[in-house]
Amino acid sequence: MSDTYPATIAAIRAGLAQGEFTARALAGHYYERIAATEAPAAPAANAWLTLCRERAEVQADRVDALARQGQPLPPLAGLPLAVKDVISMRGVRTTCGSRMLEHYIAPYDATVIEKLETAGALLLGKVNCDEFAMGSSTENSAFGPTRNPRDPSRVPGGSSGGSAAVVANGSALAALGSDTGGSIRQPAAFCGVVGLLPTYGRVSRYGLVAFGSSLDHIGPLTRSVDDAARLLGVLAGPDPRDATCADVPVPDYAAQLAALPAGFRIGVVKEAWGGGLDSQVEATVRRALDRLAGAGCDIVEVSLPHLHASIATYYIVATAEASANLARFDGVRYGLRAEAESLGEMYRKTREAGFGAEVKRRILLGTYVLSSGYYDAYYRKAQLARALLARDLDRAFAQADLLVTPTTPGTAFKIGERISNPLEMYLADIYTVPADLAGIPAISVPCGEAAGLPVGLQFMGRHFDETRVLQAARLWESLHTPPA
Ligand code: GLN
Repeated sequence: MSDTYPATIAAIRAGLAQGEFTARALAGHYYERIAATEAPAAPAANAWLTLCRERAEVQADRVDALARQGQPLPPLAGLPLAVKDVISMRGVRTTCGSRMLEHYIAPYDATVIEKLETAGALLLGKVNCDEFAMGSSTENSAFGPTRNPRDPSRVPGGSSGGSAAVVANGSALAALGSDTGGSIRQPAAFCGVVGLLPTYGRVSRYGLVAFGSSLDHIGPLTRSVDDAARLLGVLAGPDPRDATCADVPVPDYAAQLAALPAGFRIGVVKEAWGGGLDSQVEATVRRALDRLAGAGCDIVEVSLPHLHASIATYYIVATAEASANLARFDGVRYGLRAEAESLGEMYRKTREAGFGAEVKRRILLGTYVLSSGYYDAYYRKAQLARALLARDLDRAFAQADLLVTPTTPGTAFKIGERISNPLEMYLADIYTVPADLAGIPAISVPCGEAAGLPVGLQFMGRHFDETRVLQAARLWESLHTPPA
C-alpha cells in the first residue's frame, strides 16, 4: 500500500499539491485496504464499524479542487483518518460499541470532527472500541473483539483498540481515540503505533460521549511522532462549546519537534520497576533509556510514592462519574427502548438489554461508591488520593522535564485470556492512569519488542507541555530503528 502512496501527513500534502495523485484516488485506495483487512479470510480485523465513503469523497473532491487551482492546501489535506465510535459525526451512526446505541445517528459533529474536516482530513469511518470506552482489550464491544494486526489471536488493547488496529494494519493513516485511563496509549503500545494523550483541556470534548468527565480526553493515534504533532496542532485550542477546554495558545508542535534543548532531564519513575512488570518489557525499556542517555539526555531517578494507589483511585473516580453519565441512557432520549407496561419497567428493561456486563459492573460500582454511608470511605478518599498523586507528580517535575515509564506492564494478551478476570485487566492500567488523574500530557511510542510483540515507552510532561513530550518522543523515534 505505502509503495504507491506516501505514508505521512506531510508527504501526502506535498504529493497532492504537486499533482502526483488525487485525494479521491487516495480515498479509494484506503477503502480497498479496509475491504481487504475486513475480509473474512484474513481473519477479519473487525475494526471498522461504519464507513462514510460519500462524506470522505466529498472532502477529497474539495481538496482536489484546491490542488487543481494551485491554492494552498490545509494542514491535513488528504489525511485518511478513522474515528473512534464514541465521537459524534452528524448523520453517522455512533454506537459507542454498545447495543444501547446500535442504531443511534448523531445529530451534530464533535468539535474535533469540524476541525479535522476544515483541515482537509478524509474521515473514512468509525472504528470499534470497548463499550462506552470501558475496557483494555476491545473485547467489551457489543460488536465483537478487534484483532491485533501483529497477531490476530491477540487483543489490540483498548478501549481505542479499533483506532490502533487500523493505523497498524494500514487501513487508515491516523485515528482519533479517547483516553480516560490509558485508552489511547495502551492500544498504541499493543499495536506498535504512536498514541498521544493531550493535557486535560487542550482538546475540546464537545461531541465525545462522556465516560468519566474529569478524566476524558480526545487524542490522536498515528504511525509517527511528526503526524501526532501535526494532528495535535489542528485538534488543540479553546472551544466555547466545552467549558473545560482551556484558552491556552497552541504552539506549532511540528515545527519545534527537532529542537530538543540540551541537557534534557528525564525522570525514571523508580516505583515503576518490579511489581507486575514483565521482565522482557523491562529489558526493552531499560535499553531505550540507555540509548537516550547516550544521546545526551540527563536520566535521573524520581519517586511517585502513591503510584500504588492510582488504580484503586482511578476505578473509584471513573466508575462514579460513569454511573452519573450513563444515567442518560434510559430509553427516552437516545437509542434503544424496550417495550414495557410502565415507565419504570421500560427503564429497567432498556438498561438490562442495552448495556453489556462490564458497563453494568461499572454502573453498580460507581453507584455504590457514591452512595450515602460509603461516599466518605470510597469516593472522598479517592479524591484525596488523587490530590496526593498530583502532588507526587509536581514534585517529580521539579526534578525532571519529563517522566518515563513503560506504557504497560506486559504486551498484547490473547483474546479471551483476561475477560473473566476484571481485576487482572484493571491492574494493567498502572502506568497510564496517573496522567489522566493529574490531567498531564503523555505519549506512547514504539520502543522495540518483547517475545515478538510491540512494547511502548511512555513519556509524561507538565501541564500544556506537549511540545517537550513530542520532542522526547521524536528523539527516541530517531534513535530507534524498528526491526526490519
Ligand atoms: N482500561 C481503562 C478502563 O477500563 C481505561 C479506559 C479508557 O481510558 N477509556 O477504564
